[in-house]
Amino acid sequence: MPELARRIGRAKPSAIMVVAEKAKRLKSEGRDIISFSIGVPNFLPGDHVYAAAREALAKDTGQYGSNRGSDALLDAFIAHIAQIGLNGYERANVATGIGAKHVIFNLCEALLDEGDTICFAVPYWTSYVDIAEIVNAKIELLPCPASQDYKMTPAQLDAALAKKPKVFLFNNPSNPTGMVYSKDEITALADVIAKYPDTWVITDDIYNRMVFDGLGYHNFVHARPELRDRVIFLDSLSKTYGMPGWRVGFLAGPESVAKAIATMNSNHITNIPEVVTAAAIAALSGPQTIPEQKNAEFAAKRDQVLAMLATLPGVVCPRPQGAFYVFPDISVAFGKTHGPTGQKIANDVDFCNALLDAKGVACVPGSAFGEPRALRISYTCPTPQLAPGLQRFKEFFEELK
Ligand code: PLP
Repeated sequence: MPELARRIGRAKPSAIMVVAEKAKRLKSEGRDIISFSIGVPNFLPGDHVYAAAREALAKDTGQYGSNRGSDALLDAFIAHIAQIGLNGYERANVATGIGAKHVIFNLCEALLDEGDTICFAVPYWTSYVDIAEIVNAKIELLPCPASQDYKMTPAQLDAALAKKPKVFLFNNPSNPTGMVYSKDEITALADVIAKYPDTWVITDDIYNRMVFDGLGYHNFVHARPELRDRVIFLDSLSKTYGMPGWRVGFLAGPESVAKAIATMNSNHITNIPEVVTAAAIAALSGPQTIPEQKNAEFAAKRDQVLAMLATLPGVVCPRPQGAFYVFPDISVAFGKTHGPTGQKIANDVDFCNALLDAKGVACVPGSAFGEPRALRISYTCPTPQLAPGLQRFKEFFEELK
């Protein structure tokens, strides 16, 4: 039998999905499972989105569409990002993809030759590593542990950019930590970036509308407008509008980059489907009640999770101010045992497995995000499940010996 390409050997299925699949299997076997594992919003888009999709179906032309995205969709996106202070982008500066993940994939192919370096923080969103490995880039990691609130410092970034990586990939608000950089922190990092003109900067900011506590969302381009010629801003409908399965992602950046993405699209996907385009325009341009209401709900759920974690001795958890994740350092539990058989908890994977087996609560081990001292709690589950899930988590922790 002929061999698969080497790049497939470098690609791994997402570790997040592995936990979610196990939780799903246990549920199908009749177990009472509460899932804190998967990062999908637990709500659907507004009626106006479905109405727009139905209307598009009724008027369907069945034709191929624009590689970059239809003009109406690009215009809706440009108007949308102007609301967060990213002004002055034109159609030539923006492009779409089948979700932000696809845009990141396209960008890595468009910006990185084999062996070029991409740098990003640890903890990272799992797919960054897999995508970088598929395109055969070198990965330079910036460790950002709980002791520094999971955020990089300007000095750390300076040291990393001094090595002249081709791409710096930044994520704010963060998956998996939920941490959000303040205006001052963004300005300090933007000052560092300004010193290194040979590095592209991708800001994966798909949770930009999910920021709590009045902190606000800030971008390097707000801090230093001249960085616009190499900062590429990413956005997505998946989380903000409850539309992960519709698969729509965007970028705004330099013309050359947007054009390259349109070229990649023309070879990979041709276009975003017409019905999806209509739904996306409706989500971007219609009433914005969903993100507003959901932020209040998410901030309250975040507080519930933090209150439970605060009762567990030795667990360290920086306070997230965005997205819908909490990322506690649970390494104090390592070396302990659980249950009548004395099941050993040597690491984050053992912790998550034992928690799922004993209490039916699914969390993602931190090692999926490069930080094996922690685990990720995604709190988008239906509200009535949150308190019992947290109670089970607490019981599990307190039963450790
Ligand atoms: N970037 C981050 C930080 C994410 O958390 C995710 C999804 O979980 C994505 C990108 C991908 O989003 P999309 O659904 O638009 O592909």
